[in-house]
Amino acid sequence: MEQIFGKGVSKGVAAGPISFYRRPSGEIPRRSVTDTAAKLARFHDACETAKEQLGALHDKALAEAGEDAAMLFEAHQMMLDDLDFVESIEGLIENDRLNAEAAVSDTGAQFAEMFAAMDDSYMQARAADIRDISTRVVGILTGEGESGIVSDVPCIVAADDLAPSETVQLDKSLILGFITAGGSANSHTAILARTMGIPAIIGAGDALQAEMEGKYAIIDGQTGETVIEPDDAERERLLKKQAKEKALKELLDQLKGKPNETRDGRNVMVYCNIGSPADIDAVLQNDGGGIGLFRSEFLYLQGSDYPTEDEQFEAYKTVAERMGGRRVIIRTLDIGADKQADYFHLDKEENPAMGLRAIRICLTRPEVFRTQLRALYRASAYGKIAIMFPMITSVWEVQEIKRICRNIRAELTEEGVPMADKVELGIMIETPAAVMMSAELAREVDFFSVGTNDLTQYTLAVDRQGVGLDRFFDAHHPAVLRMIRMAAENAHRAGIWIGICGELGADAELTETFLSMGIDELSVSPSAVLPLRSAIRSIDTTTLAPLEL
Ligand code: PEP
Ligand code: MG
Repeated sequence: MEQIFGKGVSKGVAAGPISFYRRPSGEIPRRSVTDTAAKLARFHDACETAKEQLGALHDKALAEAGEDAAMLFEAHQMMLDDLDFVESIEGLIENDRLNAEAAVSDTGAQFAEMFAAMDDSYMQARAADIRDISTRVVGILTGEGESGIVSDVPCIVAADDLAPSETVQLDKSLILGFITAGGSANSHTAILARTMGIPAIIGAGDALQAEMEGKYAIIDGQTGETVIEPDDAERERLLKKQAKEKALKELLDQLKGKPNETRDGRNVMVYCNIGSPADIDAVLQNDGGGIGLFRSEFLYLQGSDYPTEDEQFEAYKTVAERMGGRRVIIRTLDIGADKQADYFHLDKEENPAMGLRAIRICLTRPEVFRTQLRALYRASAYGKIAIMFPMITSVWEVQEIKRICRNIRAELTEEGVPMADKVELGIMIETPAAVMMSAELAREVDFFSVGTNDLTQYTLAVDRQGVGLDRFFDAHHPAVLRMIRMAAENAHRAGIWIGICGELGADAELTETFLSMGIDELSVSPSAVLPLRSAIRSIDTTTLAPLEL
């Protein structure tokens, strides 16, 4: 038996085999070859496959994101025909008797270096393209499989850390729990675990060893403890706790169908945060009153190319229909910072959390925004869809967004596409600037939703992903709470409603505080709906002490 400790970020006890998340090694084999003709043929075949892949990407990008985005893939195809590039690789194979993978990799590195050293900034930027195409060809040659979990049975997924794009692609039916060596409580892996209602532990450090692969373990997402191959006593203790949690859940299940009403008769909307249409099952099981935040990024992170308008339409329509007339707030693309999709070809940034992300990408790449908005308005005919925009800092952004929305509505009307008469537009309040401008912003939109994860990060200047910063990432900090109160006051003054969709919304220690502020809606992970309902039903707002902030 072995015990390791980390930080519990999603409650619950899970038991099962440990399975490590696999990534292609990225190692490039290097050896001397004899049959150079066969190796040359391998290289040329790989180039053809790469060109086919690029052709398909070009066509998709052209249809979805316009000529500019598509041109990139055409340029990559042309580079694969560049005589200097090809002859350099052929030379390494024929003359230096190097294997094809190493020849492509070496030439790619050499050409990229050459471009990077040029004076012309356009030519410098080609270095990234060269790296990109040589990585593609090397990937085809090594045939390294896709990333993921290699398990046919449900397992506890272990990893050093998981990127959002990796988490969204996991087969959820195989995940009993998560344990990572690094990570932070506010990372998207932790959020995903809470959405799915499965236990998760982060920060287990070096104690998490590759030799643990396949071993039976029990994790406790509340205490952060993991027991590998537990003895009988430990096993019994933890499984007893699991049974107790189950019993508590059954007790909470009795609240299904009951209102989220305080003792003095005030109703609060309790909605759910979801990351994909598949999460609707959990929303319905837990009696969520609506969707307060649908993180639409999953559509963009799970594939290797822009999701088409039709693909998005289907996803949004499914969610709207399954929620049967209850409000579904879909947040437009919030990519950038920690949520990266390679095909966006975003430049590397020193401070990505303050860089080109979320609404800034949408306002910079109108074709991407247009595709999503068209899909959203089309889906609005099938339920009560509201659209929410992330990372707002200025009034002009909202005015520009509204102008784009009006144009898209007009365009769809002209095409005879059915839409809902009214589609509410809201913004996330997740930057200090949005709070300070909330009086003006409230006059522009139908609702606010406070993103406490980012609002805490930007208010306290603490990276929400930062390892070892959890102590400083204090979402209960008076600065954060005062911000929420200010946004609430300004929302109500303008006659609009305000919710909280960041992780803080589910924090039982603050439910009274939020009710005192007059927060109208709390959007939480599906598993937190019934505990929150229980808390709301126990509060009498007439007896709450005045807020001391
Ligand atoms: C937030 O910032 O609080 C939020 C809800 O958005 P995300 O966690 O997706 O950035
Ligand atoms: Mg956010």
